[in-house]
Amino acid sequence: MAKSLKSIRGMHDVLPEDSPRWQAFEAIIRRLMTAYAYSEIRTPIVESTDLFCRSIGEVTDIVEKEMYTFEDRNGDLLTLRPEGTASCVRSGIQHGILHNQIRRLWYMGPMFRHERPQKGRYRQFQQLGVETFGIADADVDAELIIISARLWRELGLKDLRLELNTLGSAESRARYREVLVEYLETHRDQLDEDSLRRVYKNPLRVLDSKNPEMAGLISNAPDLHDYLDEESVEHFENLKVYLDAAGIDYIINPRLVRGLDYYCKTVFEWVTDSLGAQGTVCAGGRYDGLVEQLGGKASPAAGFAIGMERLLALMEETGVAFQETPIDIYLLPRASSDIERGLKLAESLRDALPELKIQMHCGGGSNKSQMKKADKSGAEMVLFVSDEEPDRVAIKYLREDREQQFVDQDAVVSFLQKK
Ligand code: ATP
Ligand code: MG
Repeated sequence: MAKSLKSIRGMHDVLPEDSPRWQAFEAIIRRLMTAYAYSEIRTPIVESTDLFCRSIGEVTDIVEKEMYTFEDRNGDLLTLRPEGTASCVRSGIQHGILHNQIRRLWYMGPMFRHERPQKGRYRQFQQLGVETFGIADADVDAELIIISARLWRELGLKDLRLELNTLGSAESRARYREVLVEYLETHRDQLDEDSLRRVYKNPLRVLDSKNPEMAGLISNAPDLHDYLDEESVEHFENLKVYLDAAGIDYIINPRLVRGLDYYCKTVFEWVTDSLGAQGTVCAGGRYDGLVEQLGGKASPAAGFAIGMERLLALMEETGVAFQETPIDIYLLPRASSDIERGLKLAESLRDALPELKIQMHCGGGSNKSQMKKADKSGAEMVLFVSDEEPDRVAIKYLREDREQQFVDQDAVVSFLQKK
C-alpha cells in the first residue's frame, strides 16, 4: 500500500466540526473592526525575503531561525510571511496610502514560522492584525488596547491580564543601550549562546530571553525607565490615564521588550496563565520608525497581533462554546421521480427564505435509510415531496411530538414564514 500523505508537521487542518468555531470567531472580529471603523487590507502570503530582514531585524528569532525562505524558479529569494505588519507597511508605501494620512487597518490570515511545534505553537498559525498609521499620540495606543479588551468581553474571556511597558524613543533607547551593553559585558560569563551573539547587535533582545538560567541576570539589569526622555514619559503617562478612564487594568512590566526590532514607546501583551508556556494571546505596540525604515515618508504607527489558535484554545479551556446553527429543513424527495419537484421546491424556498438552512436529501435509498439520514442531519423537520401528494408536501416534525401535517405546495413559503 502506498504511504499515506500527511499535513506538514506543525500545520493543521481545520475540520468541518471545528470550522463553526472559526467562523463565529471571525464573524465577531469582522463586526468589531467595522464598529471601530477599521478597514481590511489583504496582502500576499509570499513576500521578498528582504522585506522581513529589513523590518523585523536580522538579529531576531524570526529572521535568524524561523522563516520559511526559498528560491523561486527565477532565483528570487522569497519568504512565507511570518507576521503581517511588514507586509502591511510595504503595501501602504507601495500604494501611497500612508503618507500624510490616517489609516486604521486590519487583516486576518495564516503566518508561517519554523518553530518547534507544541501546544499553542505551530508552524502555520492564524493571526488577526490591527494597525494604525499617521497618529503619534497615545490616544490611539489606548484605542488599540480598548479594541482588544472589547474582543475578550465579546468572546466571554475573563482571565487575561494586560502587561504594559514603554521602550522610549529611539534616542533614549540608544542611551540605555550603552548602559546595558556595559552591564552585559561585565556579566559575560552568565550569558547564553543566543545572548552572547546579541550583546552588540541587539542588546535589548537579551532582556527578552526565555532561558530561565538568564532570569537573575535579566532582573538585575539596569532599568530602561531611568533613561527615558521626557516625551516618551509623557506619552506613557497619557496612555495610562486613558486606560484608567476606560476602566482597563494593567500591570507595568519593565522587562517587556517584545521580540521584534521595530518597536518604540508603547509595548503591550495580553497574557493568560491558563495555556501553559504559550500564554501570550495578543502582542503589540508602537513602531514609529518602521515606515521610513522601509523606504516610505516617516509616519507614526501602532498596532497589535492576536494568535487566533491560542485564543480559541483559551475559549475551550474556559468553557466558552461556539456551535454550528442547526439545519432547519431536510427536504426529502421520496422517489427518484420526485427529485425534479424537490430540487425546484428547494430553490424556491431558498429564494423566498434565504435565512433558512435547507439540506436536500441526495443519493436515494430506502425509506428507512432516508429517515435515518434526516434524523442525523439534526434538522427540525422533514419536508416530503412525493408523487402520491402531487400538489402538497408532507411535514414531519423530528424533534417534537406532533402529527404529520400537509401543506399545499403554493402555501409552503407562507407556512414556513409563520414558523
Ligand atoms: P512568542 O513569544 O510566543 O514566540 P512572539 O513574540 O514570537 O510570541 P508575535 O510575533 O508578537 O509573537 O506574534 C503575535 C502573537 O501571535 C503571539 O502573541 C501569539 O499569540 C501568536 N503566535 C506567535 N507565534 C506563534 C506560533 N508559532 N503559533 C501560534 N501562535 C503564535
Ligand atoms: Mg516567537
